[in-house]
Amino acid sequence: MTNAREELNEKVEAAIANPEASDKMWRTMERARNARAKGILEHEINVEELKEHDRHIKAGVSADPALVQRFAEAVRKNGGQVFLAKTAEDANRYVAELAKRTGTKLLVKSKSLTTEEMEFNHYLENEGVKCVETDLGELIVQLRHEKPVHLVAPCAHLSTQDIADVFSRELNKEIPADPEAILKEVRPYLRPMFLNAEMGVTGANIGVAETGTIVVETNEGNARLVASVPKVHVVIIGMEKIIASWDDVPQLLSAHGVSATGQSQTVYVSIISQHNPLAGSTEGREFHVVILDNGRSKMHDDRWFNDALNCIRCGACMNICPTYGIVGGHVFGYIYPGPIGIPWTENVHGLDKMAYSHLCISCGLCKVICPVDIDMPMMIAKVKEDDVAANGQLRVNNFFMSSERLAKLASATAPLSNWTIRNSVSRYVMEKVVGVDRRRTLPQFSRKRLKTRLASPQGGTGKLASAPKVVYFPDIYADYNDSELGARAVHLLRRAGYEVTVPPELKWAGMPYVSYGNLKKATEVATHNLKVLDSYLSSGYAVTSTEPTAVYMLREVYPKLVPGDLSKKAADASRGFFATIQKNLPDLKLTPSQTTLEPVGFHIPCHERALTSGSPAVAFLQSAGYSVQIVETGTCCGMAGTFGMKHGALGYDLSMAVGDRLFKLFEESKTQLVASESSVCATQINDGTGLKVMHPLYFVNDQPN
Ligand code: SF4
Ligand code: SF4
Repeated sequence: MTNAREELNEKVEAAIANPEASDKMWRTMERARNARAKGILEHEINVEELKEHDRHIKAGVSADPALVQRFAEAVRKNGGQVFLAKTAEDANRYVAELAKRTGTKLLVKSKSLTTEEMEFNHYLENEGVKCVETDLGELIVQLRHEKPVHLVAPCAHLSTQDIADVFSRELNKEIPADPEAILKEVRPYLRPMFLNAEMGVTGANIGVAETGTIVVETNEGNARLVASVPKVHVVIIGMEKIIASWDDVPQLLSAHGVSATGQSQTVYVSIISQHNPLAGSTEGREFHVVILDNGRSKMHDDRWFNDALNCIRCGACMNICPTYGIVGGHVFGYIYPGPIGIPWTENVHGLDKMAYSHLCISCGLCKVICPVDIDMPMMIAKVKEDDVAANGQLRVNNFFMSSERLAKLASATAPLSNWTIRNSVSRYVMEKVVGVDRRRTLPQFSRKRLKTRLASPQGGTGKLASAPKVVYFPDIYADYNDSELGARAVHLLRRAGYEVTVPPELKWAGMPYVSYGNLKKATEVATHNLKVLDSYLSSGYAVTSTEPTAVYMLREVYPKLVPGDLSKKAADASRGFFATIQKNLPDLKLTPSQTTLEPVGFHIPCHERALTSGSPAVAFLQSAGYSVQIVETGTCCGMAGTFGMKHGALGYDLSMAVGDRLFKLFEESKTQLVASESSVCATQINDGTGLKVMHPLYFVNDQPN
């Protein structure tokens, strides 16, 4: 293991060992998610339309050199001075020289992640310029000599007491842990800074090319003081923030506000095109705009990473990321924290800062919540691949990437393989040699595979020439582990009138290749499966699977791995199992297999959230007579495929720390019947609560003869 990975392991261990801190972080993220959900309801926002609008505005133009030139020309026309900085060093040097020329000794700043990226304060302080953050959260982390933990909430990891301690130390007086009392002290502390600073530095949320205007959003109003009181105003803007026209500004303001905090927009929106006179005087007043590249042009031209440029820095991906919610942005981040921080860090700070990409457990939720629909999970897989190429692969990851081969062997040797999996001595050896955690329950294997068990794979009702046709994609679980589940699925599809086929040539879906950064293998398996599906798709077959991850791969991942018409056709034709039979539910006349009809606690697997949010499976259970209670934290259960099977901090321990929150909710729900479509989520909930978790298909009396 490299030093960076060892260091990451130690940091994760320390974070898990401090449940008070992770509880604080988790609760803050939960509140932010809830605020967003409330805002969406209150402002009647159609999330899919919002994503489409935002993509339409950003995609393709972010960091477009022609647009940057238009913006620069417009700023100059307004009387501003423009500096195009190729690197962070260039940008810092420009401001330092400007500070020298203008005699700047004190500089006030409003919140700007771009300046964090440049390590601006550090550079300027070395040049003898005192930099003071005026956003409260940024000021707190500055006084603690820390980096922001979150894009929107820099001190999300701190309690009111921690904050009171910071100011008690700084102001040399006892300040109570009361937000009002703290604010009462901070205002007079900052006021003279605004008045005495020779230079103000702001970031920019948006740059509008048609007028050379910058738009700055804050909730505290500090940016307007920073931009107007000091004689010199410097804007530092990343080139990706520039958009073409004013028509798109209201949409981005609303997307940012609602995704970040649930507000229809932030409290203060400053629109700045020039540096106006102060008290009627124009003496010494200068306006500079520094447009930063620092790797953005390279990202613009990169197939994998250019989507990251579309980020509007709302922080929503952080609020939903399960592992970030436990360890926070000081572990899950370098300077840019959280999911979007991973591609940004590789591109602006370099691969050597990237060990933390392995904290991503590929749940896919950051893409689901992103208002610009940025495919972070795929970019992160690419970062992992780059990291693995530079630093090597873990043995345990290689083991799980061989899952299909291992499943074939285990199925052929069952029940011996099942005994080995249960035996404590062999589990001890597996943990030491391969890195599979012995505390984790591993799935059992069926001696008879689904593909050999189906007497007539080409069967179906076969009665009607017009019968709808569907390929059932079992993936590993319903083929090798629980072929009864696969057989039930095929039976029910046939009862619903489908002509069903299970092509024996289909391989597994291959998710671990994506999770552990082997995109070459992932592409190979995707190419193979798409080739197998090709003739079926051409004959009008749909595709379905009982494993949400398999459908997620077909719909979300294969088109990225193998771009083209075939993958698009396969994605469009693929649906989850319950979505496929949903319209047939009244005809199926399902009856419950459980004698007690108490509410079924239902867990939605992450990959299902990207598809339907579980509603078709809920409808299925309801149609059999059950009432259903959704038991959810709003994020992942922590298992994430094979991640929770790995030994140690970056595996079982972190997986269970994430899962703990869900386990408590299940305990509180008092439900005894639990359903989940995902085999691995079922294992996680069972291991964490002792409750038996079944696939919804086992909740009905409907089985093949
Ligand atoms: S895919 Fe899931 S675990 Fe990975 S960064 Fe996104 S939210 Fe976090
Ligand atoms: S990637 Fe998306 S969700 Fe994350 S900060 Fe950027 S815009 Fe927001």
